[in-house]
Amino acid sequence: MTTGSFSSENKPKIIIIGAGLSGLTAAYRLQQMGHDVQVYEARHRPGGRVLSVKIGESYGELGGENFLDGNEGRYSLKLIRELNLEPLHFKKPFSCIYANDEQATSFSEIIGKFKNPPNLWKLLEEVASCSINLQEVIDSVFNEDPELLSIFTRALTTYEGSDPETLHPSSIDSLYEIFLLFQDLSVGNKGKPGGVKRLCLKGGNAKLPLALSDKLERGIQYGSVLTAVRKEQQKMVLTFNANQEICADIILLTIPCSLYQNIEFASNTIPQEQLFDIKSIQYGTNSKILFPIILKNKKCEFMILPHFVSWLNEDDSIMTFYMGGKQGILDLKSATSLFDEEIPFLIKGEGDIRINVNKMEEGNDIQLSSYEGAVFKSWINDPYAKGSYSNRGIGRSAILNEIITVRGEEVRNIFRPVRDQIFFAGEHTTTLPVLGTLESAIESGERMARLIEKSLKGFDISMG
Ligand SMILES: Cc1cc2nc3c(=O)[nH]c(=O)nc-3n(C[C@H](O)[C@H](O)[C@H](O)COP(=O)(O)OP(=O)(O)OC[C@H]3O[C@@H](n4cnc5c(N)ncnc54)[C@H](O)[C@@H]3O)c2cc1C
Repeated sequence: MTTGSFSSENKPKIIIIGAGLSGLTAAYRLQQMGHDVQVYEARHRPGGRVLSVKIGESYGELGGENFLDGNEGRYSLKLIRELNLEPLHFKKPFSCIYANDEQATSFSEIIGKFKNPPNLWKLLEEVASCSINLQEVIDSVFNEDPELLSIFTRALTTYEGSDPETLHPSSIDSLYEIFLLFQDLSVGNKGKPGGVKRLCLKGGNAKLPLALSDKLERGIQYGSVLTAVRKEQQKMVLTFNANQEICADIILLTIPCSLYQNIEFASNTIPQEQLFDIKSIQYGTNSKILFPIILKNKKCEFMILPHFVSWLNEDDSIMTFYMGGKQGILDLKSATSLFDEEIPFLIKGEGDIRINVNKMEEGNDIQLSSYEGAVFKSWINDPYAKGSYSNRGIGRSAILNEIITVRGEEVRNIFRPVRDQIFFAGEHTTTLPVLGTLESAIESGERMARLIEKSLKGFDISMG
């Protein structure tokens, strides 16, 4: 059965696929502009890769955590304030430790050993220009110190989600950023103690998608998995699971690129070359394990352990173990054994800790579920994410870099709209320098709402 051509007011019908931050932001803005917009979401909850949990009385994030990752959070803060949510800003003076088989060493000692060349950025650029992947860059710059080599390899793998040998050398900006961060964390900045600025939401980041979904007058159709797209006459026809068909004048696809392979796009929809490029975008494999912790004498906030990078939440009651690359592909068995392996290193660095974990559970796909012990989430195994976030894979950097202007809005060429009928949003489509963040998802939703509005000004209502 095919349903829905024009709404009662005969407005063009806009369908958004995906109720993550990008889709919800776009839907909210389009609704504010007076458009007829409906969201279809595969899961039974809003938020996509934002998934908050409760452990005891505290909140933790199995997905996106820090709204300030790689940016100032301008778009996120505007939305958070507009929806009257409570931002939690914190910058703790971090102390950092690196623990390996032999010992736990403070970062200041490790970084202090590095003979910082007069211009590290220039050196990175030079090395990157003749390297085929990011691991080669790390190897050449830190080759004299195995500890630094190991720290940067591990930190980069976690930050980007993929092993550095699969990343394009232009990802040196992340390497440089991590270097500056570690330097800041170890020695402080201009006399002030070092730290990472963080911005989360009081009561869990899920508050943002939940608040946005509450604002949508037509609600969200949950459990609706898009499986095929075709064009019939002037309409887009979308097929969902259970063979339900819906017609739309305009569609906005906000799903991760890793999901395009599951959808059948007829040849009269997205051009083959563009679709091929979209499907080829690389995704990280990050996982998180969260667990309650009581520290007697807190020694450090941030640690690099053999398999994980780890940190404490704002009230020091939940620890996150975070990793990417090959290590990020977890199931219950491997999560449990990795966790058990890693705890002795945590104790080595932290000293007296109390962890009340009898069992490890896999996180439910429900916002704000409560857990008593450890909970993990492996995003590569999530059927509606199939990865953690996009990054610059080898051979994929150039296609992500090209930016064009459409109706006065910047768009990454690979995600250019198709005939003013198919639009793309999501963290991977952002025109901000850093992909793969909460901010980039929100930015893309804001920009696509503006672009759809602009293209609708010339919309031919007789299309119905
Ligand atoms: C472990 C982890 C840690 C992170 N940490 C941070 C951080 O600290 N700071 C930061 O800024 N960012 C972080 N991120 C990234 C951030 O969470 C994402 O960039 C952002 O949430 C992506 O939003 P989105 O709307 O682009 O995509 P999504 O949230 O993935 O939304 C897409 C939606 O589409 C739905 N969907 C998929 N397929 C279909 C289909 N066929 N039919 C219908 N619906 C479909 C999905 O269910 C999903 O709800 C992290 C991500 C992960 C996984």
